[in-house]
Amino acid sequence: MIPAPFEYVRAGSVDEAIAALTEHGDDAKLLAGGHSLLPLMKLRLAVPAVLVDISRIPEFSYVRVDGDEVAIGAGTRHFELERSDVARAEVPLLPHVASRVGDPQVRHKGTLGGTVAHSDPASDLPTALLALDGSVVVQGPGGRRSIPVTEFWLGFFETALEPDELVVELRVPRTGTAGWGYEKFTRRENDWPIVAAAAVQGRVALANMAGSVVRATATEEALANGASIEEAAALADQGLEPSSDMHADAEYRRHLARLLTRRALETASRG
Ligand SMILES: Cc1cc2nc3c(=O)[nH]c(=O)nc-3n(C[C@H](O)[C@H](O)[C@H](O)COP(=O)(O)OP(=O)(O)OC[C@H]3O[C@@H](n4cnc5c(N)ncnc54)[C@H](O)[C@@H]3O)c2cc1C
Repeated sequence: MIPAPFEYVRAGSVDEAIAALTEHGDDAKLLAGGHSLLPLMKLRLAVPAVLVDISRIPEFSYVRVDGDEVAIGAGTRHFELERSDVARAEVPLLPHVASRVGDPQVRHKGTLGGTVAHSDPASDLPTALLALDGSVVVQGPGGRRSIPVTEFWLGFFETALEPDELVVELRVPRTGTAGWGYEKFTRRENDWPIVAAAAVQGRVALANMAGSVVRATATEEALANGASIEEAAALADQGLEPSSDMHADAEYRRHLARLLTRRALETASRG
């Protein structure tokens, strides 16, 4: 399939990208790694009149410690996160999860900002960011604001971003040597998760169990009240309405959520 015709604008800075979004409004779409947007354009499920290329903004790609947090530029590609010494030392869940995204080609093109903004409920890195209780820094014509991850993903392909804003940075608390676990169930190694569970510091997030990535709140509450891992994990699907599709029906997803949560918590408990 061939995308519909579009105008192409390359932004050299975040300010240029915001100016282009302000000028073109809903007609414009940001292009980062293109690995989610371009397939949609080829199917004509996305038909932007203007593509604003943010893939070569120099100040957009970094992983650094900032006080008690690790700050990651939105243009950071999955493989850069996977290989970052700072991320490995300060927040090891993230580089591990980055290494589980798709295949090497996807990891060399896909960006953290792109996967966060795309809001696919099956995404690996947003699941980890949600378990880490991080925040999303966005910038628009009025300046920057920080949105907790718990308030950022609103549903399938839906976020708290305004049309003239872009994601500029992701921030997560430094977890250092705290235990963590990530369990991703796929039929083939390079696939998207059918269900995935991330666990760190008593928090659990799940992929593909709702319209967006979600926290397993019943599990977290049980853990906080002294339940065993087995007891808490048995509640992982409570209150969630997973969908059925060609990969798995809802009941199987519920089973996976409980099982993967238990495994992720067990791994995290071993430090
Ligand atoms: C074959 C294949 C396998 C994959 N497997 C997996 C997998 O196993 N797990 C997984 O999690 N993902 C997987 N992905 C998705 C991959 O992680 C994508 O890279 C990611 O979802 C989108 O990142 P991107 O940089 O390519 O974004 P793009 O495709 O460029 O953009 C996606 C959307 O986000 C918007 N956007 C991009 N950057 C910003 C920004 N900074 N601010 C605001 N909006 C922005 C765009 O306008 C667009 O709407 C796979 C993709 C492919 C093609």
